[in-house]
Amino acid sequence: MNKIIGRELLNNCNRIVVKVGTTTLTYDNGKLNLQRVSKLAWVLSDLKSQGKEIALVSSGAITVGTERLGLTKRPKDIKGKQAASAVGQAVLMQIYQNLFLEYNQQVAQILLTKDIIDNPVRKENARNTFFELFKLGVIPIINENDTVSIDELEFSDNDTLSSYVACLIDCDLLIILSDIEGLYEEDPKKNPNAHKIDIINKIDQNIYDIAGGPLSEHGTGGMHTKISAAQRATQAGIKTIVASGSEPNIIFKILAGDNIGTLFV
Ligand code: GLU
Repeated sequence: MNKIIGRELLNNCNRIVVKVGTTTLTYDNGKLNLQRVSKLAWVLSDLKSQGKEIALVSSGAITVGTERLGLTKRPKDIKGKQAASAVGQAVLMQIYQNLFLEYNQQVAQILLTKDIIDNPVRKENARNTFFELFKLGVIPIINENDTVSIDELEFSDNDTLSSYVACLIDCDLLIILSDIEGLYEEDPKKNPNAHKIDIINKIDQNIYDIAGGPLSEHGTGGMHTKISAAQRATQAGIKTIVASGSEPNIIFKILAGDNIGTLFV
């Protein structure tokens, strides 16, 4: 794997937020991809053992809840989604708890809504909780509090949420893992020889144009929401990587400086 000058510095990142999307965590039938989730728990636990502070932003609650409730289709109405996420979030946390415990790591659940970030007192409170958890050696697992989120409170997608979390806790690196390998100059589905952009120093309209519309990918967020998350994070001085989550140990390679995904600096 070829190395990119400067990327090896990523290994110095100490506080890291990792975001994984629903399509990475689940199979098409809505069941959890346990192989992948187990590997993720293993990788994050190992980084924790290396002395890094890790926070995981995990989607999947609505999809897992839909499957657990035996519904044939993901609900479309707000209350249906909220009910599914209430069930799915508990299932997700139970599984994370068990998997991380295998590696002697304690996890914690943090459910956020946009109004917490918008309110200085509540924001400070949330921030203090994160720092206390880090002090106690715990890995926080964050999702939007879908069960009570309504339009005005919504982050709208977990890419956005992850960038707010990254800024809230002043992390060094945000890693967004999904079914997308990175940002390509052209749609790789249309042109298999399309060139991946390895590093982006400036996010401008051209980058958004390359990324396409907000609904160009599976899941709630598309490449568009990832670029806008990267923009929020990099404006706060936080490096951001968008890469494929199909093999969670890719995180080790990213930190080793391998040319994986698209790095926004
Ligand atoms: N909070 C949603 C869930 O856990 C996911 C939103 C997203 O993936 O952007 O199902």
